[in-house]
Amino acid sequence: MTCHLKPDARAVTIAVGSELLTPDRTDTNSLFVTARLNAIGIDVAAKHVVGDRRLDLLAVLRESLDHADLVILTGGLGPTADDITRAVVAEAFGVPLLEDGIVLERIRRRFAARGIAMPEINRRQALVPRGATILPNENGTAPGLLFERDGRTVVLLPGPPREMHPMFERFVAEHLAPYAGATRIVRRVLCITGRTESQVDELVQPVYGPWQQADPPIATSILATLGQIELHLSVRAVAPAEGEARLARAAAQLRTVLGTDLFSDDGRSLEQVVGERLLTRRWRIAVAESCTGGLLSSRLTDVPGSSAYVDRGVVCYSNRAKTDLADVPPAIIEQHGAVSEPAAVAMAEGIRLRAGVEVGVGITGIAGPGGGSDTKPVGTVVVAIAYPDGHTVRTMRFVGGREQIKFQSAQAALDMVRRHLEG
Ligand code: ATP
Repeated sequence: MTCHLKPDARAVTIAVGSELLTPDRTDTNSLFVTARLNAIGIDVAAKHVVGDRRLDLLAVLRESLDHADLVILTGGLGPTADDITRAVVAEAFGVPLLEDGIVLERIRRRFAARGIAMPEINRRQALVPRGATILPNENGTAPGLLFERDGRTVVLLPGPPREMHPMFERFVAEHLAPYAGATRIVRRVLCITGRTESQVDELVQPVYGPWQQADPPIATSILATLGQIELHLSVRAVAPAEGEARLARAAAQLRTVLGTDLFSDDGRSLEQVVGERLLTRRWRIAVAESCTGGLLSSRLTDVPGSSAYVDRGVVCYSNRAKTDLADVPPAIIEQHGAVSEPAAVAMAEGIRLRAGVEVGVGITGIAGPGGGSDTKPVGTVVVAIAYPDGHTVRTMRFVGGREQIKFQSAQAALDMVRRHLEG
């Protein structure tokens, strides 16, 4: 197979499928393709999601071919009438679709292996734009196609990720790599808690200003996600190790201005970082959760190997459960209310002593939409952490729906534990 891509090629991805334009399905194929292309030094200039309408796809494809060297389409290679990708690519290049005997035989055999005759409709999947190279599909019926014409490369891949990923790895990456420019893109993600996006931006601007003037520059972007701010750094490098070393130095510089607010400089999650700190200290943790309904336990146990430091988690939603499961004295709830600092501290201390561990966490709050009052509006959450030598407690006010409030509460609890352990 020859490839006509020029060095430092620019790519466009097109996800085809009307279901991707509904609220039910997300295009994840473009994320996978972008990561793989970046890793071999190809920039993605644009990405599109298009429905199964011939004229819409034709327009997007033509426009993409105008300014990109490489166009990668996923989806729409199935056997039904709404699977239009093959036909549209043939139309855009003005070549006929021809039935390929080898592909047809392969599809027939795939059906035969399952003991069924190939439905006539599947013949469509053996249609190939004249001159295209066939990429075998080891996990489904629709083969992929690679088509080169007029200095442009167009790759057609099946929609289902479990078919598309292996096909890309086996046939596409290898094919594009030698032509993809001399450099690779290396990335690094830094995660920060305890500051707003604009505060982080203000702090880091003076540090990364000079990087943008350097050759090659380090590209930076700041991203506010729920409960944390992320700094994404990327740089082009001839050797990945050289790029990684540059980003490691950049991360170290950022650490000097961000201090302990920077909890991860390699994309590790807060629960992973907390797990590592607990392991280092040889401490174990037990949690008593009310408004988070077990989310904190769930996140802690998302980390492989967490059984070494997670002892237990209880969901004590009712007042009775707070007493039954975390030994909260009823008088505390009667006097201060279930959402109060004394109640959260009692939950944290109670679960810590019951479990006989070093760290206890208590979370109580109002996730809404009902249940708020003037003094304790929806989003009021109290988190307490108990240790062998005392406790910390904070009352916070989060905004958002139930899910967001629950997530931010768990995030705040993890961060309080982390800060104490890094203390
Ligand atoms: P098939 O031969 O299975 O029909 P196809 O190439 O025609 O393959 P589609 O019918 O377009 O693929 O998509 C099949 C399924 O693959 C979709 O229902 C969806 O679950 C998944 N899929 C398609 N495109 C994407 C995408 N861009 N991101 C994530 N999933 C996708």
